[in-house]
Parts: sequence; structure tokens; C-alpha cells
Amino acid sequence: MRSKLPQSGTTIFTVMSELAAKHKAINLGQGFPDFPMDEALIEGVHRAMKDNLNQYTHMNGYPLLRERIAEKIAALYSVQVHPDKNITITPGGTYALYTAITALVHPGDEVIVFEPAYDSYIPTIEINGGKAVAIPLSYPDYTIPWDVVRSKINDKTRAIILNSPHNPTGAVLTENDMRTLEAVIQNTDIMIISDEVYEHLVFNGLPHESVLKYPGLAARSFAVYSFGKVYNCTGWKLGYVVGPGEWMKEFRKIHQFNCFTCNTPMQVALADFLAVPEAYTQLAKKMQAQKEKLEGFMKATRFSPMKSNGSYFQLYSYNAMSNESENDFAVKLIQTAGVATIPVAAFYRNPPNHHVLRFCFCKKDEVLEEAANKLAMAGY
Ligand code: PMP
Ligand code: GLN
Repeated sequence: MRSKLPQSGTTIFTVMSELAAKHKAINLGQGFPDFPMDEALIEGVHRAMKDNLNQYTHMNGYPLLRERIAEKIAALYSVQVHPDKNITITPGGTYALYTAITALVHPGDEVIVFEPAYDSYIPTIEINGGKAVAIPLSYPDYTIPWDVVRSKINDKTRAIILNSPHNPTGAVLTENDMRTLEAVIQNTDIMIISDEVYEHLVFNGLPHESVLKYPGLAARSFAVYSFGKVYNCTGWKLGYVVGPGEWMKEFRKIHQFNCFTCNTPMQVALADFLAVPEAYTQLAKKMQAQKEKLEGFMKATRFSPMKSNGSYFQLYSYNAMSNESENDFAVKLIQTAGVATIPVAAFYRNPPNHHVLRFCFCKKDEVLEEAANKLAMAGY
């Protein structure tokens, strides 16, 4: 058998969730909230099903949902995007990333990714015959080393993948980063794939720096979003991509032969729900509170928190406790303390082993507290 992804095994999220289930551990590994979702959104799906909206909707997505997204983008980022030309509804953010990369990357093309990198990026580049050029973010703040980026750009560079707020570190890009990127890609054909699934989870009053806010970037970017992170419904697997018309045509050529269109009743319900901005404007405050609660509970342990300005995640260092690899240490925590996390090594091809683990804090207070207590009681 000739594998098309010889370097990939099963994703770390599934590996750690299965291990957590096996050991009945608290799962602060895989990123999904344990808060209930809004009843009104569930009712909306029921209603759409009862109203017989159960057949294929438009292949680009339910038209009213795309209109509502365009209105939301105009309100948030002061930019006009066209619901027909620039927005496609997808079965989740991962699919949108996969399709965008597939639309752009030809065999031999290079794509710059920043490590630690969300685990789907590099395999998706490689399955398309592309070459991932991995640039480590500067430790411990996980900022982009722009001089290194400049030095890696050549005629083969097809795209740069951004992710802010960043999984797994919680780092967020600044206006300065965006302006630098604009300058870096000027006079090149480089495209940007901007993974913004955590757009509403930016903390400490910081703004979300979407590529859509910057005309020089928006004209060359696929920006990727996920409803799962906004409405506590990661299992719905629905998201969308925003991009320039010519490139969106190429995206849709692939989309039409892959899933063609997404679940209709959920799109109908989301279209109604998007008219309620309070459903997402309160999210950052709520999630920042969970981050701070976990930090408070973790004071009982020997872990040291690192800075997180957004996402569902915060890294904790165990440097003071052990020299073990992140994988070994994460497995040991599940087995001996009953707490699952994610080793950051899983987000690198050549892990630097900084001795940091990713904790997911979008969980109920009592779950966060119990996890920290279990760690403390097991001597960590
Ligand atoms: N990008 C990042 C950075 C993520 O953390 C995730 C998943 N949680 C996704 C993309 C994919 O989102 P979805 O579940 O909508 O596929
Ligand atoms: N994005 C989520 C995380 O980082 C998990 C998604 C998945 O399991 N593929 O934990």
C-alpha cells in the first residue's frame, strides 16, 4: 500500500480523547465547550425541519445565511463582501481550509506555516503535492518572526497560513503584524489563508485582526470561520469561507465535487440566529472568565501558566517538574492524575520540546476546578 500521508497517524485530538475516555479522565485536551448551546438555535432547526426545508439548498450555502454573514462582516470589519461572489458555507472550518489549500496549491508549490501549527495544515499541503515551509513562532510569546518570513519567500511561495487567535498558544496577531504582512506580500502573487475560527474569542479588550479589515490582504485571502466555536455546537460541523471572487470560483469547483452543499435546516436556523449579535458579542468575556478561573485553580499545582490572549486554550509549562517529552508527560497525566491535555509537540514536525501542554478552558467551573485538584493531589 502506498499511503498518501505516510507521516500522519490518527490526529492527536482523537488519540487523547480516546485515552481520556479509557482512563475516565477529565478531558481538557480536545477543544470543545461543555456549555449547553442556545435553545433558540435548536428550536430553529426543529422548525426548519417541520417546515419541510429538508432538501438540498444552494451549493454555495443557504442564500439568507450568506446575506446575514455579509451583514455581520460589514458591521464587524467595515468591509463589503458579496453573499453570492465571496461567501461559501462549508461543513466546518477544517473542510474550508482543506478546500482553500487544494484550490491554491499545485505540486512543488511552497506554503509557509507557523509552528506550532494546527494539525491539519501541513498534511493538507502535502496531499496536494505542496511543500510546507515551517517557521517556528518565537518562544515564549509565539510571535511571528517577520525577518525569517522574508528570508523564506521565493518564486515557489504560493501561500502563507495565518491563525489568530492561535491554536494551541492563544497568541493573537496585532495591527502591526497585519501591516507587516501587507508589505511582505506586496509585489508577489502570494495568497493568504487566514484561519479565524476563534474570531470572537479575543481577550483583554484586544481587537480581532481579521485579514478582511486590510484591503491589501482581503483581496488575496481566504478567511475561514466556524459556527461551532461561536454557538457552542462544534458537532454541527458548519462554517464558511470568505474570499475574492476569482478564487472563490476555484474553491467552489472543488467544493461542488466534494460535499456539494451543507445541511439545510441548520443553515436556516443559523440565518435567523445571526441577527442576534449578543450571541457572540458576550463570548470573549465569558471565555476569558473561564481562562482566569482555570488559572486560579491551577495555582494549587506546580504548572506555570503562559500568556493566552484568545481561543479556547492556554499553554502551561511543566519545566519545573520534569524533563520528559510532552507526549510522555501528557500520557502520564492521564494515567496518574486523570486529566487529559494536548502535548504541543503534536503541532510541530520537529518539536522543540519546551515542556508545555495545552489546556482547554471552555469548560464548566466545576470541571476546571476538579481537573486542577486532581493534578495537585497527584503531586503535579
Ligand atoms: N482551525 C483551528 C485553529 C481550530 O482549532 C479548529 C477546530 N477546532 C478548526 C480550524 C476547525 O474547525 P471545525 O470544527 O469547524 O472544522
Ligand atoms: N480544533 C479542536 C482542537 O484543537 C479539535 C478539532 C478536532 O478534533 N479535529 O482541539
